[in-house]
Amino acid sequence: MNRPIRTAAVIGAGFGGLALAIRLQSAGVQTTVFEARDKPGGRAYVWHDQGFTFDAGPTVITDPSALEELFALSARKLADYIELLPVTPFYRLCWEDGTVFDYANDQAALDAQISLLNPADVQGYRRFLAYSRAVFEEGYLKLGSVPFLNFRSMVQAGPQLARLGAWRSVYDVVSRYIQDDHLRQAFSFHSLLVGGNPFATSSIYALIHALERQWGVWFPRGGTGALIDAMVRLLQDLGGQLRTSAPVDRIEVDNGRACAVRVHGERLAFDQVASNADVVHTYEHLLGHVPRGAREAGRLKSKRFSMSLFVVHFGLSQPRPQLVHHTVCFGPRYKDLIRDIFKGDRVPDDFSLYLHAPCATDPSLAPPGCSTHYVLAPVPHLGQADVDWSVEGPRLRDRILDYLERRYIPHLRRDLVTCRIFTPADFRDQLGAHLGSAFSLEPVLTQSAWFRPHNRDDAIPNLYIVGAGTHPGAGVPGVVGSAKATAGLMLTEALP
Ligand SMILES: Cc1cc2nc3c(=O)[nH]c(=O)nc-3n(C[C@H](O)[C@H](O)[C@H](O)COP(=O)(O)OP(=O)(O)OC[C@H]3O[C@@H](n4cnc5c(N)ncnc54)[C@H](O)[C@@H]3O)c2cc1C
Repeated sequence: MNRPIRTAAVIGAGFGGLALAIRLQSAGVQTTVFEARDKPGGRAYVWHDQGFTFDAGPTVITDPSALEELFALSARKLADYIELLPVTPFYRLCWEDGTVFDYANDQAALDAQISLLNPADVQGYRRFLAYSRAVFEEGYLKLGSVPFLNFRSMVQAGPQLARLGAWRSVYDVVSRYIQDDHLRQAFSFHSLLVGGNPFATSSIYALIHALERQWGVWFPRGGTGALIDAMVRLLQDLGGQLRTSAPVDRIEVDNGRACAVRVHGERLAFDQVASNADVVHTYEHLLGHVPRGAREAGRLKSKRFSMSLFVVHFGLSQPRPQLVHHTVCFGPRYKDLIRDIFKGDRVPDDFSLYLHAPCATDPSLAPPGCSTHYVLAPVPHLGQADVDWSVEGPRLRDRILDYLERRYIPHLRRDLVTCRIFTPADFRDQLGAHLGSAFSLEPVLTQSAWFRPHNRDDAIPNLYIVGAGTHPGAGVPGVVGSAKATAGLMLTEALP
């Protein structure tokens, strides 16, 4: 007799949800992804406007091997679906005093620039890189896609974490090796890319530096949205389904097991259910009707959440060849600004920015002779600063565009064709993000690994979590790693 085909629902088509669905479908599980919005991608949503392509979120694509693995599961090749273009330099870092640092995968060029700032830091940087490589080995290669379901697994990882000094902050560790203030910023800001405060987040996150040096920084031809399209095509080629404009409003639980999802009032039965939606949204709204949901939502709400982001997308009628693909524009303050972002109750007067100029790598993202950009500023989340973003948003947009025009993009206003903003209120309203956080739970040691929401729910044995809110955490490599951990559990679950 043929075994019945196992079925799974994945709620949410972010990078994590799609990666999980691909893994399940590749293993023969009939998988349906339900996405609330009209397009997949989640944080990696895409807008098209007057010939400009605006990627909403991730633009720094690292660890292509994790993406290649998804295609290799069914003996396919990522390169047949999407072309990844190398980005050089990885980032240009700029300070208001005129210091510029091109962070690239070229040791001699790095040494020369470090030496200009402080010759003693050349050796210090090497020691920092060795440290970063050690945490990368332990924290990413060994533990990045292992589910931490019980405390024993945490205890087992304890000696490695202790040896690497995981209780120290990223900034602490960088400062042990490097003296120059600019360089301390240059090698510690990375944790902000996954929602971590460099002064509070575990030094384990220093691994991002080694990860970039190991595999480089990439950008998909056509933008990050084209990478999402490639993942959707792979899923569909394998026989999986994606339903967009299909918000799940409830996960049905029967006899202690998740048995169905409700979409537009329709009840659809599945053997297993995985949520890629925000973790608080999952427990509070999708499972609020069962005691487990309300209890877990209450527990999660007492956790620390990452900061939010304020993003301005804009298209210009002229190219901007002086800009590299990724620029970090450090403002006048570093430590104090970060404190105000993570602990403050208002939008700070100053900012540090990330400026995206994807046409430097792929001019097709704008009409001929034009350029596409976004600029983002980390800002406090809504639980921290109760800001009316319908008022503050346009003001902050104007302040940021004025700043860019003065320092980075002359005649920005003259050439402005189109402009839109995405605020913490949009993270809350359009993505269901608790407190409008851009990266879910803050990645501090006490909220990492076993201390993070688990890849499988503790009480409902066939309910799973994937994405930024579970282990290992936010960022594209993180959520793709979470999909590996979650799929491993789902595929080995013995169904009743
Ligand atoms: C502006 C920005 C820039 C970033 N830059 C980078 C970068 O350069 N590099 C990097 O690696 N990372 C970056 N990140 C982080 C990275 O984008 C995220 O951590 C990652 O994409 C989150 O993926 P996810 O799988 O957790 O799901 P999300 O992207 O959060 O997707 C979850 C999906 O679930 C859907 N959903 C929610 N509720 C329901 C429901 N009830 N029913 C159906 N669907 C639902 C949502 O609509 C959404 O599509 C950035 C993030 C932001 C916001």
